[in-house]
Amino acid sequence: MRVLLFGAEGKVGSVLRPQLEAAGHELTGVEVGETPELAGHDAAVDFTAPDAVLANVRGALGAGVPCVVGTTGLTDEGLVELDGLARQKGIPCFVAPNFALGAVLMMRFAEEAARHLPRAEIIELHHESKIDAPSGTAKATAARMGGDVPIHSVRLPGLVAHQEVILGDVGQTMTIRHDSVDRESFMPGVLLAIRRVGSLERSPVIGLEHLL
Ligand code: NAP
Repeated sequence: MRVLLFGAEGKVGSVLRPQLEAAGHELTGVEVGETPELAGHDAAVDFTAPDAVLANVRGALGAGVPCVVGTTGLTDEGLVELDGLARQKGIPCFVAPNFALGAVLMMRFAEEAARHLPRAEIIELHHESKIDAPSGTAKATAARMGGDVPIHSVRLPGLVAHQEVILGDVGQTMTIRHDSVDRESFMPGVLLAIRRVGSLERSPVIGLEHLL
C-alpha cells in the first residue's frame, strides 16, 4: 500500500516508519510545513499534535485518502467535523486513542469491573512532552465505565504510556493496570488499522476493539 505518514519524525512516527517499510508499504513521510501530493495514496496515518491533526485529516479525506488517526486531544467538535467530512466524501476514517492491545483489554476489563464495584478513579501517567491531559485513553475508559470517574494525570520523564484504574468498595480495592514501556506496543494495532481502514463500512470508527 502507498501510505502517507504525518508526523514521520516524531516519537511514534520514527518507530512506525521502519515497521511500515518492513511490512512492504511504500511510505511518504510528512513533517511540519511539507505539502506532498496527497492523492494516489491508499491510507494516511496521523501521529502529530492536537492542533495539527484536523488540518491533516481534512486534506487527506479531501484528496480521497482513508485516514488512521492516532493523535489524541481531538475535541468532540473535531470528531464531529471528521464524521461529517468522512460521510460527505464517502472516505473512511479510523480513530484510536490507544493502539496497544493490552490497553484495549484494560478498558474492557474496567468497563466490566465498574458494573460490580461502584467507585473508581483513573490515574494516567505519560512522558513529560505529552501535550494533552487527561489522555484520550483515560477519557475513553471513563466513558466506558459510565462517565463519572475522576482522572488524575501524571507527566514525568522516564514514563511512556501507563494507566491504572482503581476500583473500591467496602473493605477492598481492585487495580487494573496497563503499561506501554515501548512505542513498539502500538505498532501491530496501527498496521492492522492501515490494512483495514479502506474497507470500513461506517465512519469514523473509534477504538481498536472494533477491528479485533
Ligand atoms: P511527537 O514526538 O511530538 O511527534 C509529533 C510529530 O509530528 C513531530 O515530529 C512534529 O514535528 C510533527 N508535526 C507537528 N505538526 C505537524 C503537521 N502539521 N504535519 C506533519 N507533522 C507535524 O509526539 P508523539 O509522542 O509521536 O505523539 C504524537 C501523537 O500521537 C500525540 O497526540 C500522542 O498523544 C499520540 N499517541 C497516540 C497513541 C495511540 O496509541 N493512539 C500512542 C502514542 C502517542 P515538530 O516536532 O517539528 O513539531
